[in-house]
Amino acid sequence: MEDNRRIETEDHQEFEEDEGMESLNRGEIDSLFCPICFEAWTSGGEHQICCLPCGHIYGFSCINKWLKRSPNCRKCPQCKKLCKLKDVRVLYAARLCVADEELQKRVITLEAECAYLKQSHKSVYERVLEEMRNEMDEKSMELKGKFREICEEMDARHKLNEARCEALEKMFPEMPNMRGN
Ligand SMILES: [Zn+2]
Ligand SMILES: [Zn+2]
Repeated sequence: MEDNRRIETEDHQEFEEDEGMESLNRGEIDSLFCPICFEAWTSGGEHQICCLPCGHIYGFSCINKWLKRSPNCRKCPQCKKLCKLKDVRVLYAARLCVADEELQKRVITLEAECAYLKQSHKSVYERVLEEMRNEMDEKSMELKGKFREICEEMDARHKLNEARCEALEKMFPEMPNMRGN
């Protein structure tokens, strides 16, 4: 609580001197994703990276929504330490990246991995789609075949019936026409 006054200010100079920077969880910076929405945070705009007094970091729009959601119980979603909306402090992500070359390398690697996964995901999706299409084609052929068989069978039965009627007509010429013509 004694840190509130310092954290409220937007002064960059003071930010650089803030030991809070050291207490940021490295694992979370490495992950580069907002733990609320799991999207990468941005260096500006609505989802700008920001931190709470406890050191946990979030996209601003997400933590803003989160803290407004429960006005009587404003807590960090990760460590449950009480936190007021005004304690949320916007960070300058570009600085964090420049400060950590390893992290930048990791970002590039992750981006490459992400692109690769997207690509392979797409090809798996296409293959599954192709398989489904083939299967549907097969099923449709099968159904068409069955339909043809049924038609043929009905046709044959119809012919058989006709033949029987004709035979009966011959046997009993005085009977009214059984086929209705
Ligand atoms: Zn978010
Ligand atoms: Zn926290």
